[in-house]
Amino acid sequence: MPVLVMKFGGTSVATLDRIRRAAKRVGVEVAKGHDVIVIVSAMSGKTNELVGWVGETSPLYDAREYDAVVSSGENVTAGLMALTLQEMDVPARSWQGWQVPLRTTSAHSAARIEEIPTDNISAKFAEGMKVAVVAGFQGVSAEGRITTLGRGGSDTTAVAFAAAFEAERCDIYTDVDGVYTTDPRVSPKARKLDRIAFEEMLELASLGAKVLQTRSVELAMRYSVRLRVLSSFEEQSDDAGTLVCAEEDIVESNVVAGVAYSRDEAKMTLVSVADRPGIAATIFSALSDAGVNVDMIVQNISEEGRTDMTFSCPTDQVARAEAAMAEANGNIINFAELIADTDVAKVSVVGIGMRSHTGVAAKMFQCLSNEGINIKVITTSEIKISVLIDRKYMELAVQALHDAFELDKAA
Ligand code: ADP
Ligand code: ASP
Ligand code: MG
Repeated sequence: MPVLVMKFGGTSVATLDRIRRAAKRVGVEVAKGHDVIVIVSAMSGKTNELVGWVGETSPLYDAREYDAVVSSGENVTAGLMALTLQEMDVPARSWQGWQVPLRTTSAHSAARIEEIPTDNISAKFAEGMKVAVVAGFQGVSAEGRITTLGRGGSDTTAVAFAAAFEAERCDIYTDVDGVYTTDPRVSPKARKLDRIAFEEMLELASLGAKVLQTRSVELAMRYSVRLRVLSSFEEQSDDAGTLVCAEEDIVESNVVAGVAYSRDEAKMTLVSVADRPGIAATIFSALSDAGVNVDMIVQNISEEGRTDMTFSCPTDQVARAEAAMAEANGNIINFAELIADTDVAKVSVVGIGMRSHTGVAAKMFQCLSNEGINIKVITTSEIKISVLIDRKYMELAVQALHDAFELDKAA
């Protein structure tokens, strides 16, 4: 029997009624002859509440217990989804991560999937079970502890199951009807894309578009999973939503495919560090050891053997970065001051067309200049340009760039 993976995000399982609606959609695929693996998120808001409880109980929490708590939201929806399907006379049962077992690394709250054995679930399909409901976002480490895959991790659970079971497709049901040229909540002119290339989706996700977790796109690309994003609220045809696919499968596309943003960025400047070999290595090793995710890095020109070093990191890692720098500021780094600007956001334009077209950066900077928006840091790669700007201009920048690159119009 062909296997289909269907993932339902938080808003799609937010109430018993919505679980029923999702279950009906699963029933339709079963009726078409599929064995279905359903991956569920926690009810929307639940994971945030659980994270809050952990922080209130223990500010410097034990990461293993954090995972034990925050993974629990998915256990509830998995059981409820299986019960709902049974009420509809669809043979179904639930699996928590450890029961599969979905094996992961021991990096609590950011674990990576290592293995998904298929025998257990396949045996149940062979016995006539039609739907395996699996709790997303969670797994088990070699030490036998519960792990989680990072926020938004149910997307990754879904793609990993699709790869392991060689599923016909992996459908990600969410609260928007596909991947848009930018977040439709920020720009009313955002346009739904019928197709987007893996590379573009990967960049958009890692630059802040949370419609798919970055790791899920990486896995889909590596294992050639047919990945589709679609709405759980609207009636869907077979070609609804957005297909994330290989570049070759896209006939025409704009030079810029989309605009992404990340609200919670901080710009950190180490003022007056010595300009000699080994300094950057010392600074960024200390930040890495402290678990700070550094993104952009800029080093100024040096004057009299000293220079300023600027980097960006998520705002919730500023305290950790400050502590690491204070500790490392012995004779080697010897900076004068660390200035943290926590009111910045990152806005990026992404598109594989940039490989062969010039002028995208010029157009982007001109557009921001026309809006009176000052650029603080710039980074580029082959298919993206990112800038740090004052957070208060973030929405304006996204909308202006969307207009400037005419993303509301198809190529
Ligand atoms: P789920 O709970 O189903 O996993 P998420 O909230 O994680 O849903 O992801 C869906 C949200 O992603 C949308 O509501 C939308 O606001 C946001 N989003 C950001 N960028 C984009 C984009 N380019 N296209 C579509 N949605 C986007
Ligand atoms: N419930 C988890 C979260 O909110 C995982 C997910 O929904 O993908 O991050
Ligand atoms: Mg999500």
